[in-house]
Amino acid sequence: MTNPNTSIYIHIPFCKHRCAYCDFNTYAGQEDSIPAYVQALINEIEFVGQRAEQMNIHTVFFGGGTPSLLSAPQFDSILKALRSAFTLTADAEISIEANPGTISPEKLNIIRKSGINRISFGVQSANTEELRMLERIHDFFTVIEAVSTARKAGFNNLNLDLIYSLPEQTLASWQTTLQRIVDLYPEHISAYALTLEHGTPFGRWSSKGLLPPPRPRSRRRNVRIRGRVFGKQGVCAL
Ligand code: SF4
Repeated sequence: MTNPNTSIYIHIPFCKHRCAYCDFNTYAGQEDSIPAYVQALINEIEFVGQRAEQMNIHTVFFGGGTPSLLSAPQFDSILKALRSAFTLTADAEISIEANPGTISPEKLNIIRKSGINRISFGVQSANTEELRMLERIHDFFTVIEAVSTARKAGFNNLNLDLIYSLPEQTLASWQTTLQRIVDLYPEHISAYALTLEHGTPFGRWSSKGLLPPPRPRSRRRNVRIRGRVFGKQGVCAL
């Protein structure tokens, strides 16, 4: 029997740098392990493919971590394994999460040709100071360049991720970020409120009073502004 609505999530647990707010399962400075991890993934895909009932796959999502740290040939071999283990529908959406600071025109051209048709860039903010506080490795100019490079490579489905209610973030700064993001005309925007997770540097600094917690009122106002800006532009957002 065919399961009509199956999606596959593939986790890539590597990052160039561990951001201070992040509690995802990811490791910095271990890029040497990527080839072995990719091989293990391929083995797992073959193993599951042989045992699972026939599946039509509509969505494949490479999340992380920073999937864009993988090389184009590594993506290609994972996709080949997926195509031979499962049936990917002709219009399957195949997405990767990418850090704007880790892409190149060559890599995007090749992975677009291999069948990846959607990119989700982790932008988080358009404000230099906020990006520095979050310990992101990119600035907003890198984001503009990354979006333009992705468009030139043929990606017509882009998502941009944002984080709001940052410590010390003003409403003006949040509004500016939203406007700059909307001006890039992404097909989708995801905006999340920052949560101070236990075990992260942000969580520790906050419990020692070194990081002001976001105020619930400003959080509510941020959500209202988000709704107003996106609604006016007709942007689909989470
Ligand atoms: S790039 Fe993303 S996954 Fe990696 S440490 Fe930063 S927030 Fe976490």
